[in-house]
Amino acid sequence: MTHPSNSGVAIDLGSDTSTRPTAAMLAAMVAAPVGDEQLGEDPTTSALNERVADLLGKEAAVFLPSGTMCNQIALVLHTRPGDEVICAASAHVYGSEGAGVAVLGGALIQPIACARGIFDADQLSAAVRRPKMRAPRSRLVVMEQTSNRGGGAIWPLATIERVAARAREHGLAVHMDGARLLNACVAAGVSAADFARPFDTAWVDFSKGLGCPVGAVLAGPRAFIEEAWVWKHRLGGALRQSGVLAAACLHALDHHVERLAIDHENARVFAERAAAIPGIRIDPPEVETNIVFLDVSGTGMDAGVISARLREAGVRIMVEGPTRMRAVTHLDVSRAAVERAADMLARSVTAAAA
Ligand SMILES: *Cc1c(COP(=O)(O)O)cnc(C)c1O
Repeated sequence: MTHPSNSGVAIDLGSDTSTRPTAAMLAAMVAAPVGDEQLGEDPTTSALNERVADLLGKEAAVFLPSGTMCNQIALVLHTRPGDEVICAASAHVYGSEGAGVAVLGGALIQPIACARGIFDADQLSAAVRRPKMRAPRSRLVVMEQTSNRGGGAIWPLATIERVAARAREHGLAVHMDGARLLNACVAAGVSAADFARPFDTAWVDFSKGLGCPVGAVLAGPRAFIEEAWVWKHRLGGALRQSGVLAAACLHALDHHVERLAIDHENARVFAERAAAIPGIRIDPPEVETNIVFLDVSGTGMDAGVISARLREAGVRIMVEGPTRMRAVTHLDVSRAAVERAADMLARSVTAAAA
């Protein structure tokens, strides 16, 4: 049993944020000891912070309401106004955070055009500016694990290590957007601490594949996390009895990590079936984790039309462009559900072609 939904969508492949807390998670939330987080007196939130700091091999960590706030606080702290942040052109920090780095930090982004949201050390070097009085100062590189718009692609550990080492040579700090880091860990068989080691700061999201209603945790050096607390207050992200939320996150770390492999398998099954539909192509073709991008241009149909037909059948798949769609698997979609969604997709396409 999960918390009831009123979205009217029976099979929701729109995003892994659509998960609802399970009965066991809700029970953990109800039972959580709580206190005032702003006073450092919420024992459950403190336990979560320590757990994530350990998981990522960092000195300290801070619970925040969202992954976006983790990124924004980290980017503001790593930069000064006029600095430049280097990331993939497809990165969430660039296209999906309301230009926060410009608004909050007065910094610029230099996007790198790259396949699957992953770049190498030479692409980083090409993006770094030579020090000049009139040039922005290159200051930070961001890697997104997994790459969301890159189709859930995993940054290989060796690539991360090369890019991070090159970043150090250029005097840059290194930050991981780890919204789906644990998906990468489960799929690649690499520990979170190993993936996080080359980074100054890293965070994980609990409201994605881990199935929690709210929450993300940013980790890094102790002094950095103390500074992050100032921004947490400033942005209105300091909480009170946040233990009810942190308890869900602790529950997820105990029960929802290994099972991400099921989501990856379901994504592969969905992709295989979708690829067999005339006019549909999986792009990028290799499905490494829980995200599948569909190129529907060969159907001659608009993605919006396909999506609307699917909605009538109770299936949600996101429209990402005129001929591009995104399906994401998670805790609330079973193997049977993704098979049914693929059948509905086939029907939506052929129904229109007829
Ligand atoms: C979802 C997401 C975020 C933001 O996380 P929220 O918790 O939704 O604010 C950041 N980066 C990536 C790659 C994401 O997919």
